[in-house]
Amino acid sequence: MSTQIANAVVTHEESMFEAVLARLDVAAKLMNLSDDVAHVLRNPSKQVKVSLPVMMDNGKIQVFEGYRVVHSTHLGPSKGGIRYAMDVNSDEVMALAAWMSFKCAVANLPYGGAKGGIKCDPRSMSVGELERLTRAYTKAMKDIFGVNKDIPAPDMGTSGREMAWIVDEFNKITGEDSPGVITGKPIAIGGSLGRDAATGRGVMVNTLAALKKMGLNPNAVTAAVQGFGNVGSHAARLLNEKGIKIIAISDHTGAFYNTNGIDIKAALEYTAKNNRTLKGFTGGTEITNAELLTCQCDVLVPAALQNVITEENAPKIQAKLIVEGANGPTTPEADPILNDKKIICVPDILANAGGVTVSYFEWVQNKAGYYWTEEEVNTKHDLKMEIAFEAVWNNANQFKTGMRIAAYITALQKIEQGVKLKGSY
Ligand code: GLU
Repeated sequence: MSTQIANAVVTHEESMFEAVLARLDVAAKLMNLSDDVAHVLRNPSKQVKVSLPVMMDNGKIQVFEGYRVVHSTHLGPSKGGIRYAMDVNSDEVMALAAWMSFKCAVANLPYGGAKGGIKCDPRSMSVGELERLTRAYTKAMKDIFGVNKDIPAPDMGTSGREMAWIVDEFNKITGEDSPGVITGKPIAIGGSLGRDAATGRGVMVNTLAALKKMGLNPNAVTAAVQGFGNVGSHAARLLNEKGIKIIAISDHTGAFYNTNGIDIKAALEYTAKNNRTLKGFTGGTEITNAELLTCQCDVLVPAALQNVITEENAPKIQAKLIVEGANGPTTPEADPILNDKKIICVPDILANAGGVTVSYFEWVQNKAGYYWTEEEVNTKHDLKMEIAFEAVWNNANQFKTGMRIAAYITALQKIEQGVKLKGSY
């Protein structure tokens, strides 16, 4: 096991997808996954790269790179978000697409996995430029997307606004009204109640489930949350509502620490008025994002970027429990260090599966044309997350491994059936 993780030490620096494969290999060996199935899953089923010329506000054309990778469709149509960020590249999108396959399988959703992205800096673009770029991307992906084929959603740098443009453009192209072609839409045009907070809610449900197994009372527990965007802000709020004291929060503009507990409501009000950033927040002492990760707390929620928990800082982490709100926040080299320190890590493909779970509910509601109350959505979500957590926990015990590899095993057990039952190619 350690050799295979060690292999990833060599490769993951250049390749996030190699980091996924390193974990897949460890899980495959432990569970005795068939080589055929492993081969299939090591190779994403479709990779699309497009060039998107967009007229910028200054009258000049800028050409953007757009990607969509469908990793698998063995359990259903492919599902996964679209990310707008400067570091988007084919390797990263491939890794994120594979994680979506595993995430959907862990959450027991009838989906395969996909991911898309555009290499751009959305913060430096006008709304008009972003709309033209989003519509150009949709046109380029018209044969990939489909309500029963490939269903995108928001990810880093995108939100309901972009989803609304995509569904509009797609429906104009096809001449049909097909709201379920994309999820994470605004409520007025077929979005689901509860979708916005869902990823943070999933983090909360997983945290409570883990604390229960660890015999810890939420009212006596502190947490540090890295990231105050869609995932981190809702996670912090919901954890706080369950009695957990949030002692540190951060975003890309700064990190704040307060042993008496950060007033999350005040932080949310502050960001709402402050261009959605924490810059200048006075509800805590300013620390660095690096200090937040290693601060004295019981629960650490990395809910911002990938590769933030590394072999350098893992030895210094003081939390007893890590719940991964972001995709890929922990490098493969950090995994064995956390395991040796007996830190329980609820991995991304379980911890942040709440978002895609409510995306699935949105898709079901769109297909039925019948919409649920927020309470119905939340109740169904919480149950699905609790079942997924229990399955992974049981596999961790059965296979005597950490929760990350157990989550891969849980996913692979389902995907293996899909591949085998659908027959050979
Ligand atoms: N982008 C989110 C994720 O990484 C949500 C995907 C979806 O809802 O399809 O899980």
